[in-house]
Amino acid sequence: MINLETEIQYLKGVGPKKAASFLKLGVKTISDLLVFFPSYYQDRTQIIPIQKVLIQGDKNCIFGRVGKTYQKNINANLVMLDIEIIDETGKIYSRFFRKKNAYSKFDAFASLKKNFTSGRYAYIYGSVKSERMDIYIAPDDYEIVDDRSKEPMLFKKLLPVYPASEGLSQKLIRDCIETALSSCKNLYPDISSIIPRLDNIANEPSPLLLTKMHSPSSLFEAEQARRSFAMQEFLILETALFLSRSKNKILPKVQKYEISKNLLTPFKNNLKFSFTRAQKKVINEIFSDMQNPYQMNRLLMGDVGSGKTVTALSAMLLAAENKYQSTLIAPTEILAEQHFSNISKMLEGLPVKIALLTSNSLKRKTEREIKLKEIADGSIDIVIGTHSIIEERIKFKSLALVVVDEQHRFGVMQKLAALKKAQSPDVLMMTATPIPRALSMTVYGDMDVSIIDELPPGRLPVQTFYATEETAYKKTIEEIKKGSQVYIVYPLIDESDKLELKSAVEEADKLSKGIFKDFKTGLLHGRMKRDEKNEIMQKFKNKEFDILISTTVIEVGIDIPNAAVMIIQNADRFGLSALHQLRGRIGRGKIKSFCYLIGDAKSAAARTRIKIMTSTNDGFKIAEADLQMRGPGEFMGTEQHGFPEFKAGNLIKDMDIIEASKKAAQEIVESDANLEEPAYSSLRKIIESRFSKKLKLIEVG
Ligand code: ADP
Ligand code: MG
Repeated sequence: MINLETEIQYLKGVGPKKAASFLKLGVKTISDLLVFFPSYYQDRTQIIPIQKVLIQGDKNCIFGRVGKTYQKNINANLVMLDIEIIDETGKIYSRFFRKKNAYSKFDAFASLKKNFTSGRYAYIYGSVKSERMDIYIAPDDYEIVDDRSKEPMLFKKLLPVYPASEGLSQKLIRDCIETALSSCKNLYPDISSIIPRLDNIANEPSPLLLTKMHSPSSLFEAEQARRSFAMQEFLILETALFLSRSKNKILPKVQKYEISKNLLTPFKNNLKFSFTRAQKKVINEIFSDMQNPYQMNRLLMGDVGSGKTVTALSAMLLAAENKYQSTLIAPTEILAEQHFSNISKMLEGLPVKIALLTSNSLKRKTEREIKLKEIADGSIDIVIGTHSIIEERIKFKSLALVVVDEQHRFGVMQKLAALKKAQSPDVLMMTATPIPRALSMTVYGDMDVSIIDELPPGRLPVQTFYATEETAYKKTIEEIKKGSQVYIVYPLIDESDKLELKSAVEEADKLSKGIFKDFKTGLLHGRMKRDEKNEIMQKFKNKEFDILISTTVIEVGIDIPNAAVMIIQNADRFGLSALHQLRGRIGRGKIKSFCYLIGDAKSAAARTRIKIMTSTNDGFKIAEADLQMRGPGEFMGTEQHGFPEFKAGNLIKDMDIIEASKKAAQEIVESDANLEEPAYSSLRKIIESRFSKKLKLIEVG
């Protein structure tokens, strides 16, 4: 007996080797096979009269009686077979080519000739071609029937076409799915009775939807089945997210806030700029969360340079106004130091005490002891640092607000540990990797999201070119002469790859002695010691170099306004988000910035990426495109986030479904937090089996 958990290697015609090929496509069990959906459907519903085909050409299905066959040698290595296909309206040759082995007597067309015997009938799908006076059809696929009234298997229908993998034919995949459907489709979990109503969604049970996905009678039916199945998928995920949220969010917090503005007003007056509309909106959202009796759990997204730091600083000052401590955690020492020095400047003259806490700054004993004491007795209001902050020995007196910068750079456990430093912290996670709305509603379904969708005024957009090295270097020299500084980035796939690093270092050496010999160059890479890296960054900041040649270690978030040119080598090898993050290092000051992408974009995907990069600076557009190109799993990094793959759901097309399912999930969880009602029993079972392990990961983002 086969059931949903049966491994498909036990199916007829599969075996261990083919099962390995299936596994590459993510298919291990019968259950996986049922939801291994076609990537598209080939329209074979219409059979075209031969006369029409002769006139129109193009890809078509024809049907006719098999007539005579003609075989011809094209040259010593190639033979051709023409088979007459005849219907009421005309005649066309179905043409096959085969390689010929000059020493073999074997007829390359033996099996074709056996199939296409005169008097039988053939369905053929292929492209109609004409060469001079010669018109023929080049078959992609065919099916022979003896009795013309017999219904074909592969024609007069929408033929599902499945994602391919080496060693698996479409026929084998179709046969396996056929078996899975006929034996197990009724076992597949079903929550169709509780899905919300929505346009173009059928309230049909899973077994019927599965059948329609694999053999729809129309494209409309296929799309409706897909949407309906997607609704089930999203409802399951959203309910799981709401459940985890309701279990974790009920704790009211101890801290209480009043906006007295005795720090906020002087802080605003101190700033050399005023907040953008988007910053103001986000500050309001954060303040109202902080005044709320429940803990804040908010994700702040904003493109590089949009000014997240001052926004977060406002929240930290609100905490300080109310005699609470707050902390800002950055992923690296360089970033923490940069935050510390910028924030120190912005808070000059204000009665706020801030401290830097990195492993470096903890080394010196006296300094460390003073800091630890002042954090513990509450005389330090704001602690800025790296993950060193989560160390056991660091104890806060009254930590109430935890801000995590570049949150995607931290592991789940690190974030959890940071939150344990306070009794009931308000949490603000920040990221410069914008996450498209659909994704943030799913992965971060339990967080509130704020977006800074506007750059401070006066920023000149970075102009990006796909260029040759010569052009880029020539332009670069012009810009240096005008006073700009330059990044040249050699993106290493793997910072620990010695060979790759060697070639980058050699390349850097060549450049600094060659075309850039009149300028000062510095080198930075991941294998350098931390102090060394810091020193080089600092020197670049102090304009001791014109050019910084580096691997991708130049930090996300590093702010050097005078760096206005970036050259990215091997740009074709890198994903959109990586390119956008790198480019975010420039365009931070008042001077016009230029980015040159260098590389040989051979693949279509690489060309698309370059085209997107040269046409927009909008991080959200880029993220959407990236998501579309790579799919959600890879986009988010499946491992870290425990992010589920959707079988039918599409994060780009299905916004309406995601919204509806989120609302429905909320209602379900609010009315029945343990899913005890009989109507929810399937839903509960599915969630228990799929999410019990992953939920813990999802909930902290
Ligand atoms: P990110 O969002 O990438 O972390 P930052 O907070 O580092 O951006 O801000 C980038 C730069 O823009 C900083 O130098 C900051 O002082 C400046 N900045 C922030 N907000 C504004 C504003 N409203 N007007 C002008 N400059 C601003
Ligand atoms: Mg930043």
